[in-house]
Amino acid sequence: MADKITHFEIHDIRFPTSLTGDGTDAMNTECDYSSAYVSLHTTSGLVGNGMTFTIGRGNDIVRIAYGVHIVCIAIREVANRLVGKEIESLFENMGKAWDYLLADPQLRWHSILSLKMSRIGPEKGVIHIATGAVDNALWDLFAKSRKKPLWKLIVDFTPEELVQATAFRYISDAITREEALQMLKEKEATKSEREAFVKENGYPAYVTSAGWLGYDDEKVRRLTKEAIQAGFNHFKMKVGTNPTSDLRRGMIIRSVIDDPANLPKEHVPRDPKTLVGKNAGPTGNVLMIDANQVWDVPQAIEYVKGLQAIKPWFIEEPTAPDDILGHAAIRKALKPYGIGVATGEHAHNRMVFKQLLLAEAIDVVQIDSCRLAGVSEVLAVLLMAANLIDYIAVSGSIDRNVLEFVDHLHEHFVHPCSINAKGRYNVPLNPEEGYSIDMHKSSIARYEWPNGSYWQDPEARIAHGLDK
Ligand SMILES: [Mg+2]
Repeated sequence: MADKITHFEIHDIRFPTSLTGDGTDAMNTECDYSSAYVSLHTTSGLVGNGMTFTIGRGNDIVRIAYGVHIVCIAIREVANRLVGKEIESLFENMGKAWDYLLADPQLRWHSILSLKMSRIGPEKGVIHIATGAVDNALWDLFAKSRKKPLWKLIVDFTPEELVQATAFRYISDAITREEALQMLKEKEATKSEREAFVKENGYPAYVTSAGWLGYDDEKVRRLTKEAIQAGFNHFKMKVGTNPTSDLRRGMIIRSVIDDPANLPKEHVPRDPKTLVGKNAGPTGNVLMIDANQVWDVPQAIEYVKGLQAIKPWFIEEPTAPDDILGHAAIRKALKPYGIGVATGEHAHNRMVFKQLLLAEAIDVVQIDSCRLAGVSEVLAVLLMAANLIDYIAVSGSIDRNVLEFVDHLHEHFVHPCSINAKGRYNVPLNPEEGYSIDMHKSSIARYEWPNGSYWQDPEARIAHGLDK
């Protein structure tokens, strides 16, 4: 009997990170890192999990009379479209499955359940991140059904299969299917070499956890030293609320990462080609800064010029994420200072990335796979940028790529990521882990909003200002 999607579950999970300052930046000073989490179930008992990322208390702005998180409602509407579908017919053409998820005209245009939240689409806002959670769950299901981690499922695709799985609509002025196919075919012969290399060495990673705005100087100094000892050579610091304090914190990080005495004993000098254009210091260490959208365009330019002494590789999210021309102006103004511009974690669809790339507004593309509408759209951006995470199949080089590593909340996941002694991501090899997104049932029970045991605990409620 054909395996069909029978039902789904949705959970509003909120972790109380606001109490420790984890995740604090110039815009988000008190975050409870949260997710709207969806599980698709099939007749045979397979479960595919997906999520989109939200920030706890901010969710209350969009809570409605039903007392249900609006993203969860949107996920319900999108996931409903999959109930009763045969999974193999979906897996046969994931690009088509993605089109189908997006194709409900009511969800695309108007409001959900008559909420007066006009124009929640198309391909943006609540409906788009909800589609991301559902599409991610479908890919998790696909990978698990093939007993492969997600990356392996995708790199084992033929060029034709990969192109078929990609969301190409609206981007043919940046890349056509034919161009993508040719690019992938050119890399096909050497794919297994790159796979072997990345399995052995890991995928380059950078650490953000040392430089959250809510941490004091000593904590920043200590965490930076620990990160160097752990093998990292890319470090990111949050900036944007106070130029004097940012310069001071930046100088602390720079002094720690540029000091050879802090390098680990077994330190191997970095390959210079991995450091090109990154303002690396004498030890081969790189600093990046992230403003989380806090500035206007002229303000961004002046502020970042003032941080020239700490030699950042790039400024991330200097201004509003939708402002393509603003990013282009900032990039142009900072170029003489050798500082690049990065953005993308709030770019809500592939068309925004297309414009950022075509307007030469950014040096570095940063995708959030829980904000874009799932893997099919991520592939579209990767193919457009042709230099990002799926290096095995797409760009043929990881020389300059780094993936963010944040050391929080891993304990809630069944298959957490891990970092090797070189400060790189270990490549997931467990055939059962799919998207590596399964959350422990106990974590869901504890942190589900509003009835999880944590959120019902009187002490916790007082600490979060929920009760007096
Ligand atoms: Mg950021």
